[in-house]
Amino acid sequence: MTQWTMKELSGWGRFPTTRSECALLEARADAREMLEARDGHAILAHGMGRSYGDAALLERGRVLLTSGLDEILGFDPETGWLECEAGVTLSELIERFLPRGFFPPVLPGTQFVSVGGAIGCNIHGKNHHVDGCFGDHVRAIDLLVASGEIVRCSREVHPELFWATVGGMGLTGVILSAQIQLYRVDSPAIEVETVRVENLDHFFEESSKSKDFTHVVSWIDTVKRGKAMGRGVMMRGRHAGSDASFDAGGVDRLASMLGKIADGKNFESNAWLNRFTITAFNEAYFRKERKGTHASTSHFAPFFFPLDAVQNWNYVYGPRGFLQYQFVVPSRDAVRAALEEVTRSGQFSFLSVIKEFGDQDHGGLSFPCEGITLAMDFPNTGAALMRLFERLDDLVLEAGGRVYMGKDARLSRPKMRAMYPEWVRWKEVRDEWDPERVFQSDLGIRLGLV
Ligand SMILES: Cc1cc2nc3c(=O)[nH]c(=O)nc-3n(C[C@H](O)[C@H](O)[C@H](O)COP(=O)(O)OP(=O)(O)OC[C@H]3O[C@@H](n4cnc5c(N)ncnc54)[C@H](O)[C@@H]3O)c2cc1C
Repeated sequence: MTQWTMKELSGWGRFPTTRSECALLEARADAREMLEARDGHAILAHGMGRSYGDAALLERGRVLLTSGLDEILGFDPETGWLECEAGVTLSELIERFLPRGFFPPVLPGTQFVSVGGAIGCNIHGKNHHVDGCFGDHVRAIDLLVASGEIVRCSREVHPELFWATVGGMGLTGVILSAQIQLYRVDSPAIEVETVRVENLDHFFEESSKSKDFTHVVSWIDTVKRGKAMGRGVMMRGRHAGSDASFDAGGVDRLASMLGKIADGKNFESNAWLNRFTITAFNEAYFRKERKGTHASTSHFAPFFFPLDAVQNWNYVYGPRGFLQYQFVVPSRDAVRAALEEVTRSGQFSFLSVIKEFGDQDHGGLSFPCEGITLAMDFPNTGAALMRLFERLDDLVLEAGGRVYMGKDARLSRPKMRAMYPEWVRWKEVRDEWDPERVFQSDLGIRLGLV
């Protein structure tokens, strides 16, 4: 008998927050019964809640928490093929398989995401230019669809359902398990080069010199104007050989500065977060980096997940939460224009990250496509921030780019439709498998996807 309990839920940005009836999905065998127990309500899978906005929320419906689906179902140490349940997190995969010499194919900026969430948002990592998205490394998915059937879909069997589910934001059904390719690595160490980037032109110059590195990402100061606009710190690396040992590399610096900021803060207020403190943090982080290019060897954790070092980092922004604006555009001029817009706006992003994606586009609702992606974290200041986002939407749209739905809480329906023209075909597939609109989310309702 399924127990539904009212719970407060939010994404990582803690905006918006909702109250929904939730139940923990503890075994794949219970999934069908739980779908029936929804009593006519719409339903949605919720993984680790690390999407930022309302992608994993459903206020007027019921939410299935997938963290109980935590079993590894099979692993072939010859090939690296893994089959696991959808609630297994990437941190658990690292913990279990790194000692055996295997690593997940794509990692976001936190390891606390579930396999179901990684597929639902078709996440990208620092290696997108080499390895594409998470979905590129998934062979098959077992999906609970609206009829109550569990359908195995892959590139060969029900390929249209497979590709609508990869990046499908949970709107095609509940992923119960998946087959994923893990990759061989020789060590937990990463050989890193840290480059102090003096401005946006310098970023593009260094980025084009980074093709031999499998993993590249840059912190960028989105407060600084003028000649130094776009300054930052690029970190590029590759998995080290078996004889590597770690040294104190530049990549630990960000984690340790964020730790000091969070330490002792009163999370009941975000009064300490203002233009002066955000400007001072960006200045201090840039200044701590030595000029030029420096090599080091880092443990994988601070390189991949600097924010994970600070527990509940998202509470630092106070009770109103924060919003991330992440977009991708094909042109450098559009990035420059976006930075100019932000630096003029009176809104301040605390932490921002920039990266060049590789030449790949899955279509459907998947976010990555060839171009430059910029992600900025803004404290929630209400209407003024929304006005900035609207202006950025127009700029991104005009440049032929798009906003990442996994980070979104406010994009409008017409703009989403213009950014993702393939939503029409995606929706045809979804409607075929879910004609009664069983699977919904607050994001899906807002954007007219369900
Ligand atoms: C610090 C930080 C850094 C990040 N960096 C990146 C990054 O570099 N690249 C990137 O792409 N993303 C990044 N993200 C976003 C994050 O990787 C994605 O939002 C991911 O989907 C979160 O996984 P989750 O398990 O928390 O899913 P949730 O947030 O719970 O859900 C996300 C979506 O997946 C769906 N979903 C979840 N489980 C299932 C399931 N079993 N079946 C069907 N649908 C399901 C949900 O319905 C929802 O639509 C970052 C997030 C944080 C907090």
